[in-house]
Amino acid sequence: MLQLTHIDKRYAEHHALIDINLTFNEHETTVIVGPSGSGKSTLLRSLNLLEMPDSGQYTIDDQVIDFSRPVSTDVLLKVRRLTGMVFQTPRMFDHLTVLGNLIEAPVHVAKVSKPVATKEAQALLTAVGLDNTADRYPYQLSGGQTQRIAIARALAMHPKYLLLDEPTSALDPEMEMKVLRILNGLSQERQSMIIVTHNMEFARAAADRILFIEDGAVQFDGKPATFFASPTERIQNFLHAFT
Ligand code: ATP
Ligand code: MG
Repeated sequence: MLQLTHIDKRYAEHHALIDINLTFNEHETTVIVGPSGSGKSTLLRSLNLLEMPDSGQYTIDDQVIDFSRPVSTDVLLKVRRLTGMVFQTPRMFDHLTVLGNLIEAPVHVAKVSKPVATKEAQALLTAVGLDNTADRYPYQLSGGQTQRIAIARALAMHPKYLLLDEPTSALDPEMEMKVLRILNGLSQERQSMIIVTHNMEFARAAADRILFIEDGAVQFDGKPATFFASPTERIQNFLHAFT
């Protein structure tokens, strides 16, 4: 379980997160939506400590973090191991093949043997429909292929919580569909996921829960069916932009 209590984050004069209180249960797919600049990425990045909130508490499984004190490296590494992050435009190791990229962290961080890591990487490539790319280098991949490999790479570390920040925003519609199909499958397998996306169709189909963030605060937290019934005028206006 992930729990944020009284989380605040400021960038200079901008108050990016204001008294956030949220709990994320295991095996749920939460979709975070909201206008640009509302604090979605800051919230997601706080969950794997890529951003350090100024105050509040973060409980991840049995680890309690109080942001009024410095976070130790041990705790940082523990949080990074529990959470996998997928970005809008993933970075690969350019000098490694796809297979090399996939086994890098399992072998060097998780200390999995190379044959075991390789076998699993191949299975993950099959799962994302890219088993013919194992020997390619990153420059030989399309954006959509790169994103699917980034998801496979995150999964190779068996993160308990998978965090994705606009994983399809840089993709054309066809590639977006392929990536969303993978995320839908993971959701059905009950992988714990928190996804920031502007794809409302996906949110409606795959989310167990929707969070609507605006001005650094949670303005809606509930079921997709409720959200898409436009419970407030603000949400109605927000959704109107997508139709
Ligand atoms: P988008 O949909 O455009 O990705 P977002 O909801 O993810 O937006 P955030 O990236 O979390 O928004 O940013 C929230 C606010 O904090 C914005 O006003 C942004 O300009 C500001 N902000 C984010 N990162 C920084 C930073 N490193 N330094 C200063 N301000 C920042
Ligand atoms: Mg963002």
